[in-house]
Amino acid sequence: MTLKSRDKKHLWHPLTQHKLHPDTVAIVKAKGCTLTDEDGKDYIDAIASWYTAMYGHCNPHVTERVTRQMQTLDHVIFSGFTHEPAVKLSEALIEILPENQNKLFFSDNGSTAVEIGIKMALQYHSNRDEKRNVFISFEHGFHGDTFGAMSVSGLSDYNGPFSDFFLDVKRIPTPNGENHDMILDLLRKVILENDIAGFIYEPLVQGAAAMQMHNAEGLNEILKFCKEFGILIIADEVMTGFGKTGSYFASDYMEVKPDIMCLSKALTAGLLPMAITSCTQNIYDAFYSDEISKGLFHGHTYSANPLACTAALAGIEMLKSEEIQAHIKRVTSRHKQFGEKIASHPKVSSTRQTGVIFALDLDVETERYGSLRDKLFHHFMDQGVFLRPLGKTIYILAPYIITDGELDKVYKSIEAALEIL
Ligand SMILES: *Cc1c(COP(=O)(O)O)cnc(C)c1O
Repeated sequence: MTLKSRDKKHLWHPLTQHKLHPDTVAIVKAKGCTLTDEDGKDYIDAIASWYTAMYGHCNPHVTERVTRQMQTLDHVIFSGFTHEPAVKLSEALIEILPENQNKLFFSDNGSTAVEIGIKMALQYHSNRDEKRNVFISFEHGFHGDTFGAMSVSGLSDYNGPFSDFFLDVKRIPTPNGENHDMILDLLRKVILENDIAGFIYEPLVQGAAAMQMHNAEGLNEILKFCKEFGILIIADEVMTGFGKTGSYFASDYMEVKPDIMCLSKALTAGLLPMAITSCTQNIYDAFYSDEISKGLFHGHTYSANPLACTAALAGIEMLKSEEIQAHIKRVTSRHKQFGEKIASHPKVSSTRQTGVIFALDLDVETERYGSLRDKLFHHFMDQGVFLRPLGKTIYILAPYIITDGELDKVYKSIEAALEIL
């Protein structure tokens, strides 16, 4: 029996309607940019397994360090205890984060990083005897699948059954360079009518909205405006963090720096699940008190797992290396060339790019997970390329180490896809 058929017996997959999509692909091996399935077929992982494995799968620098770490200290409770991997990671991460970030709070995934950011913002105001219970977020944003994260997300297609239990959230459009005055007017109105605790946003690129991109200057103006009203700004860099936009963090492109940042995905170089919510000293100070109840009473069993911290530390070393920085520049310029070439294709309505994130929209009408998506997905898989089209968008977010030859193969498979539409 194949893994694919045994899988069907007991497993329930994420974001899947099993009746419509009964089949899975069983992967037995991953190395660099290549995934190998149980029949021995190779696929280029052109989305870096959900934007995690940015330095390549089974990266030896990362796996060797974690292998060594697991023979010394596997795990220890992080409430009241600490360890070297967490301390070293904190030093390395603070060095590359925007200069105002000073404290790190650990959890397990992007959604919990967001959940903690939301709780920090609510309790920050509460600890200062100010009741602020409403959030602002961008339309079409995605922040995760736990309740707080779902609430601030604006991609509500699949959240219907839960919406009665959401936090109160007001939404504003993303800045496109032309709607600036309209957004600030709307913001002013929302701020005057509500007690806004925080503004949460995916800076520059909205991943789950099919890599929608927005204007850095416009975002900076929004952040500045929020700050004037004491609204905490929470940058969800779960997707954009660790080099994907060309800088270490997307927040590097804005003059106004976030109060709180959410990090996960590429944080651990694709090896282990972990997340961090970072914040400024000012946020931390609002919880620092003689009163126990003013502390942040949130904690996950595997907080700051030493193996995950070690993977993250090795990942940051990779990110900072000349080798990876050169790869980021190379992939960015290859995408630019491809974008210029493909933009005039009659089946392409637009292209966009931020750093190593490239997306093109097809000139067709379709729903998000409709039949076109399936047709494209199977086309790419047949060609040995793993891409995950969303609606009418095809995007590439490959590991930085993808070779020119592999990139050519990805580009060719996209060109071929345009011919079968
Ligand atoms: C993926 C993602 C999340 C959720 O992370 P999980 O680890 O899947 O819970 C939150 N925010 C953004 C921007 C993401 O891309």
